[in-house]
Amino acid sequence: MPELPEVEVTRRGIEPHVRGRTIAAVTVREPRLRWRVPAAVLALAGREVRAVKRRGKYLLLDCGDGHLIVHLGMSGSLRLVAPDAVPGKHDHVDLCFDRQILRLRDPRRFGALLWTDGPPEAHPLLRHLGVEPLTRALDGPRLHALTRASGMQIKPFLMDGRRVVGVGNIYASESLFLAGIAPRKQARRLSAQNCARLAAAIKLTLRAAIRAGGSSLRDFVGSDGVHGCFQRRAWVYDRAGQACRKCGNAIRRIVQGQRATYYCTACQR
Ligand SMILES: [Zn+2]
Repeated sequence: MPELPEVEVTRRGIEPHVRGRTIAAVTVREPRLRWRVPAAVLALAGREVRAVKRRGKYLLLDCGDGHLIVHLGMSGSLRLVAPDAVPGKHDHVDLCFDRQILRLRDPRRFGALLWTDGPPEAHPLLRHLGVEPLTRALDGPRLHALTRASGMQIKPFLMDGRRVVGVGNIYASESLFLAGIAPRKQARRLSAQNCARLAAAIKLTLRAAIRAGGSSLRDFVGSDGVHGCFQRRAWVYDRAGQACRKCGNAIRRIVQGQRATYYCTACQR
């Protein structure tokens, strides 16, 4: 599933090619994505893309009088292809520009293409999203304040997109290891110092993944058409039973909220 780093890599990959360009035509070969592609998307021809923004895992193509909201779902990818590139079976939507096509491929069709002419942050899908982790909005004091009223353990808390967006399962385990915090610790018991370390660890982990081109993802294809994902050398994720890279203890696997968590019982308290 594309995580925040893959979406950000996609944003950075496509923005220089579509910003300031006019959508010449929209081709929808299969409108049945997670929600049916609305008629407003078909009417985008003639609009200029002013910027490509991101909120959580949503890409927002700013078209001046509204935004095209794109979500890659479970298996979606956006690529820039030549105007004569023959669409494959799962290439459902094309935004055609003068010299290139921005093509949405989505084999499982859990992705979404929607239009909003209001402020995107007020859209029902985006309204409840939590703090954006790669901005200054997330820091120690903010994380400390957010955790105070929570009855959750810190690992599921981090993965709750209504609190902080885009910290997926891999990144939650890795960040907690870097911050030295046990995944089952009650969120509200974290000290201010814990929260400062954790906020920094989240940023570090996500930025490293973005630099690496996003973490491993079978269906992700970089916007240049090259498979762009590289599994980073993980500290703990998917390393059950293996030696901790810091202390040598065996990495432990537990399940929290139906998701696997990996951690070191010696390094994380
Ligand atoms: Zn350790």
